Amino acid sequence: MIRFDDVVKKFDDNIVLRDLSFSVSPGEFVSLIGPSGSGKTTILRLLMTLERINGGTIQVGDEYLSHMDRGGKLVPADERHLRQVRKRIGMVFQQFNLFPNMKVLQNITEAPIRVLGKSRDEAERRGKELLDMVGLSDKVDEHPSRLSGGQQQRVAIARALAMEPEILLLDEVTSALDPELVAGVLAVLREIASTTDITFLCVTHEMQFARDVSDRVMMFDAGQIVEDAAPDKLFTDPDEERTKAFLHAVI
Ligand code: ATP
Repeated sequence: MIRFDDVVKKFDDNIVLRDLSFSVSPGEFVSLIGPSGSGKTTILRLLMTLERINGGTIQVGDEYLSHMDRGGKLVPADERHLRQVRKRIGMVFQQFNLFPNMKVLQNITEAPIRVLGKSRDEAERRGKELLDMVGLSDKVDEHPSRLSGGQQQRVAIARALAMEPEILLLDEVTSALDPELVAGVLAVLREIASTTDITFLCVTHEMQFARDVSDRVMMFDAGQIVEDAAPDKLFTDPDEERTKAFLHAVI
């Protein structure tokens, strides 16, 4: 579960999120769409505790990322709590960020061994299962540089899943790919979404994908949610003029 209540995020004088409130239920797939620079990635970065909020509260499961002290000042949760939060969340980025000096399987097994304390045998068994799931069982011993962008992104997805996240954050995961490689990555995500109970929050410019796979789509602009609806409603009969204009421009 993810919950934002009246969240404010500023970078100097630039107010990027304005009293933002929303929640994502366990197992739900929610897509965030909206114009460039509207604050979508910032939401994911706050959840990953890579940025800190200036107001409001963020809850991940039963953990809060900050609290008010007696003087009404916002204090980040201590590092132990933040580590617990990070363990629950996986993130896949636009750039795959694989370790170039490690083979594909080692890219996947490194964190489960080091962070989750898994044995090498167990991590490798699970890593091979995940590579099979993303259609790359024949690439176990390759180096990432020998894979296509789409294959690298599928390794990055397998790597995130190897950490057994409750929540998976996807940040424009197909934006850096050649068009013919996009479908394979989206098919893998669609399969994962339909066969696991992972909660997804997905920033995407792939409108057809958002429509196919999401339980809810949030149209986001200027730091606020403009419209939050089931995909069929939002893409065919949006209530807000801002949503209509955005969809008209991108579809
Ligand atoms: P895009 O679709 O282009 O990725 P976005 O909706 O994800 O855009 P964000 O990346 O969240 O938008 O950025 C929102 C605003 O916050 C932008 O004005 C951006 O310049 C600003 N911003 C983001 N990160 C920082 C930072 N570390 N320092 C200063 N300003 C930042």
